[in-house]
Amino acid sequence: MIKLTDISYSYDTQPVLKNISFEIKEGERLVLLGVNGSGKSTLLKLINGLIDPQKGSYFYEGNRITQKAFKKDRTLHRRFRSDVVLLFQNPDVMIFNPTVYDEIAFGLKQLGKNHINERVGYWADKLKITPHLKKPPFTLSSGEKQKVCIAALLAIEPKVLLLDEPTSNLDPMTTGWLIDFLSEMNLTTLVATHNLSLSQEMGDRVLVLGQNHELIFDGKLDAFLQDTQKLMAANLVHSHVHTHDHLTHKHFHLHDWD
Ligand code: ADP
Repeated sequence: MIKLTDISYSYDTQPVLKNISFEIKEGERLVLLGVNGSGKSTLLKLINGLIDPQKGSYFYEGNRITQKAFKKDRTLHRRFRSDVVLLFQNPDVMIFNPTVYDEIAFGLKQLGKNHINERVGYWADKLKITPHLKKPPFTLSSGEKQKVCIAALLAIEPKVLLLDEPTSNLDPMTTGWLIDFLSEMNLTTLVATHNLSLSQEMGDRVLVLGQNHELIFDGKLDAFLQDTQKLMAANLVHSHVHTHDHLTHKHFHLHDWD
């Protein structure tokens, strides 16, 4: 479904992704793990077709995705925008409509979808935000805003949902709700996070970006957690020297705080 071959990306002269290759099959639930600054958001923007790699290629369902390809093939662009959606880390950058209803309806209108009223009603109900439909989004809490953004994206009925640190603005209860909600959805998902314990809940396969901006691991989370060298290379743990009862020993700490 999704294929990246040898992709590199730099902002000016600063490389943030180096020689990244992997494939995602339909229905997979993946976690993109890496410390802040490792390049996770940039990789999600690339997979969402917002930026083009300077080196390497990105294919969605066999079509090479570039800004040029979108300009040349409007049908591809429309289908891609309808299939692959990205939930930004900060809901405030996504919300700009006068009411919650308009916010959810916006993408549907842009993509020329039908039954807009029914779709908005269905997703507002599913995300339990129906009482807010007439309100201006800025009056909502960050958890509620996050739900508005999710409703707006899911109303489009995408195939691939990309999420950038989706729980960073959420309280523990809403985080739990989001984890359960996503696991019930029959969608291909890629969730970027720097939180190791969250990654256990969000997917079966992890892609790990190292501090060197290379993909240093692709596989089952359990195998990654047992690989101390790679955990250290990703800076997700550090070794720590302790002295207890005159005995000095060294062990590893997970970097799991937010
Ligand atoms: P992550 O999501 O893992 O925190 P990002 O992809 O956001 O990583 O950022 C990777 C690096 O690229 C960081 O050093 C960041 O400062 C830099 N960066 C991100 N966006 C831009 C931009 N628009 N212009 C210049 N540098 C950027």
